Amino acid sequence: MPLSALANFIDAATLPPVRGRYQFDVPLAPLSWFRVGGKADVVFKPADPLDLAQFMAERPPDLPITILGATSNLLIRDGGIRGVVIRLGRGFAEVVRDGRDETIITVGAACLDRTVAQQAAEWGLAGMEFLVGVPGSIGGALRMNAGAYGQELADICISAEICDNQGNLMSVPGEQLGFGYRHCLVSPRDVFIGCRLRGRLDDSAAVMARMQNIVDQREQTQPIRARTGGSTFRNPTPDQSSLKAWQLIDQAGCRGLTLGGAQVSPLHCNFLLNTGNATASDLEQLGELVRQRVLESSGVQLHWEIKRVGENLPASGSQS
Ligand SMILES: Cc1cc2nc3c(=O)[nH]c(=O)nc-3n(C[C@H](O)[C@H](O)[C@H](O)COP(=O)(O)OP(=O)(O)OC[C@H]3O[C@@H](n4cnc5c(N)ncnc54)[C@H](O)[C@@H]3O)c2cc1C
Repeated sequence: MPLSALANFIDAATLPPVRGRYQFDVPLAPLSWFRVGGKADVVFKPADPLDLAQFMAERPPDLPITILGATSNLLIRDGGIRGVVIRLGRGFAEVVRDGRDETIITVGAACLDRTVAQQAAEWGLAGMEFLVGVPGSIGGALRMNAGAYGQELADICISAEICDNQGNLMSVPGEQLGFGYRHCLVSPRDVFIGCRLRGRLDDSAAVMARMQNIVDQREQTQPIRARTGGSTFRNPTPDQSSLKAWQLIDQAGCRGLTLGGAQVSPLHCNFLLNTGNATASDLEQLGELVRQRVLESSGVQLHWEIKRVGENLPASGSQS
């Protein structure tokens, strides 16, 4: 890549040499589930964990880093992302069965959750079926403690492999990751590079049938083919409300509400949709409008589950 192609914001000479790939001035909207957002100054795809570790250790300390998974729970703002976006690819996408304990699998953070569920089912491993309905990567599932149907990643995670902000590679036991409802306590500056998951032996056909059941249910209850970002808001804690976020949004009259090209999904009102020409700003403003209306109608303050990253365009007003 000629250095002349580099965006204004970063001096390419300050980036450490890597075996992976730097791309400059990269449009992020085509990569994103919402299909919105500006450009990244630089996208770095490390070749493998050692390459990532070298980058983290040698990069300028003030260089901003943003980690993207499959972007299925992420809103990239219209002004794009300054600094370096890390995206894990092929060097982090293996699913391997443990040679000594056949209930254990090792998976790379770039693997899609669905792929892991399907591979586990082929091996006759139960307990990971819920992953078939989560459209993210394993890295995102670890960060968000992804879950569905009463199960979450914390239930099956033996340990996670992490490259920390200084470039140290480490394995952290699952119980030390601080998993909670849709989050974990690992520093947001650390990169998950993989994990070990435990299933239980079962009949492969039975596991597949349960997965198919989940897929069928999803089709009916969620806008899974739409330009969306998954659950927009966290469910309130029981002391805040006995209702789920979608029920509060429904009660506030927001089902189907639109702003610019953004819409609250008529099918599942905790999902926001890009109906075709939405900007990130439309989606974020609609989300804020929903929060305001829910607060007015029920007194409950909803909190964003979707991670919002990057910068607004200068004209688009306030930033949260
Ligand atoms: C149709 C639909 C249905 C969904 N259903 C569910 C569901 O049932 N249950 C559920 O839990 N979620 C659901 N989601 C939300 C989403 O799929 C999950 O949160 C998923 O775990 C996000 O993974 P991702 O790879 O897309 O992460 P991203 O959206 O790319 O990122 C989310 C966060 O994880 C961080 N991250 C990503 N990869 C890494 C990494 N390697 N290391 C460190 N940090 C990382 C990012 O920095 C960001 O903070 C749904 C989303 C959609 C669009």
